[in-house]
Amino acid sequence: MDTQMLIGSKFEKGTDAEEQILNPKTGATILNLPEASQAQIEAAVAAAEQAFVLWSRTTPAQRSAYLLKIANRIEAEAKEFAALEALNCGKPINSVLNDEIPAIVDCYRFFAGAVRSMPGVVAGEYLPGHTSMVRRDPIGIVASIAPWNYPLMMMAWKLAPAIAGGNTVVFKPSEQTPLTALKLAKILAEILPEGVVNVVLGRGDSVGNTLINHPKVNMISITGDVATGKKVLQAAAKSVKRTHLELGGKAPVIVFDDADLGAVVAGLRAFGYYNAGQDCTAACRIYAGKKVYDKLVADLSSAVSTIKFNRPDDTENEIGPLISRRQRDRVSSFVERASELKHIEITTGGKPGEGTGFYYQPTVVAGALQEDEIVRREVFGPVVSITRFTEVDEAVNWANDSDYGLASSVWTKDVSRAMATAARLQYGCTWINTHFMLTNEMPHGGLKQSGYGKDMSLYALEDYTAVRHVMVAHG
Ligand code: NAD
Repeated sequence: MDTQMLIGSKFEKGTDAEEQILNPKTGATILNLPEASQAQIEAAVAAAEQAFVLWSRTTPAQRSAYLLKIANRIEAEAKEFAALEALNCGKPINSVLNDEIPAIVDCYRFFAGAVRSMPGVVAGEYLPGHTSMVRRDPIGIVASIAPWNYPLMMMAWKLAPAIAGGNTVVFKPSEQTPLTALKLAKILAEILPEGVVNVVLGRGDSVGNTLINHPKVNMISITGDVATGKKVLQAAAKSVKRTHLELGGKAPVIVFDDADLGAVVAGLRAFGYYNAGQDCTAACRIYAGKKVYDKLVADLSSAVSTIKFNRPDDTENEIGPLISRRQRDRVSSFVERASELKHIEITTGGKPGEGTGFYYQPTVVAGALQEDEIVRREVFGPVVSITRFTEVDEAVNWANDSDYGLASSVWTKDVSRAMATAARLQYGCTWINTHFMLTNEMPHGGLKQSGYGKDMSLYALEDYTAVRHVMVAHG
């Protein structure tokens, strides 16, 4: 197992406080990893600064070739990456191998292509006697900070557009899930010029805090909690750094009376509970029309009660445990508080799983009202609430009545109703008759307190490059 950070071309162990890396399936310690010292963070930023000089002058075709090599190596070592991610996050091995790794490989390949054909305003004589053109140039050193729910995928979403755009990066994985980042660091050191990507380990309030306040860092890219995003904004304000924020979510799902209920139940069973609900787009806040409400509660509860988890043969598991005991207890306390309300019924689940792992039973919370905590706050666990609505306006207003604005979905057979409803939703993404599906060509990112950075797609490449105007006066 790779345990060393990448600073420039050197591999080093951190020299500061140790963090326990746990196996969420058992609660056992995998290993302890020390975090980066202040001197090591300085060295990583200095390596990124040094590398920027040449890297920022490479051609798109050259950077594209590097990205393709990275994609090929991840693909070639897919099984090893998947095993490590499954170990560190508790994910079912098949989810990582069959869902995540192909999407990760495709992310590097997408940006390898995208950077070679960036669109823009055409050059021309917009003032007589002067030719104007727009450039898109790299921003500089990007501090990239990732969460624990999809470690290798978040790394891809952050690294691929950043380095494609000609930036250099100091990357910090979540202190809870650094193992695949350390394995990828080994590969990156073989492929990329020294210092283009540096990987440092550590907690948010120590190493993360140093990075976001570092005077030489030009841009901060972070995926995480809203509270963390606010700290990033405060730090960025001091030296006016660019920020790319991907924060939490609480996705509303509007199910109209004419929806295909079988498809809704199958969709919610999959997309409400995937990754044990530790997903900022999870289909977790259902608004069901009054005619379908009872049947949806009954059918969904019975479908969710069949979700397989904590089986000794991991290939049978559909979801894993939560990332930590703390996260499991947090989810548990949300459900306990909800169950104390008279109007709420827990129709399936509602308890921690058995054993020493951090499991929580897939849970349906029926009868929830708009003002309930379970409807308003991000639970980030395998818990879906269902609320009954009577009028379209009520459903749309409730869906929009949230601090979050990342993802949403609408389920109906009526195309006009689907389009009219989608147009009114204040969310970065609205799916119709599906949920959760992502593709590297399309942007992913939020509104409101879900942040405003776009991952994936050409929009991410725009986020990681600066628009510049160059004007030439004719002689
Ligand atoms: P978190 O905010 O606790 O941590 C995210 C990262 O930020 C970690 O690497 C952490 O070490 C770092 N961090 C924490 N405090 C910091 C500070 N003061 N300065 C610098 N860095 C700091 O979030 P988490 O618990 O790891 O992840 C779960 C959250 O991420 C959820 O809210 C989820 O919705 C969100 N998320 C959002 C998206 C999206 O695309 N919008 C995707 C995945 C996860």
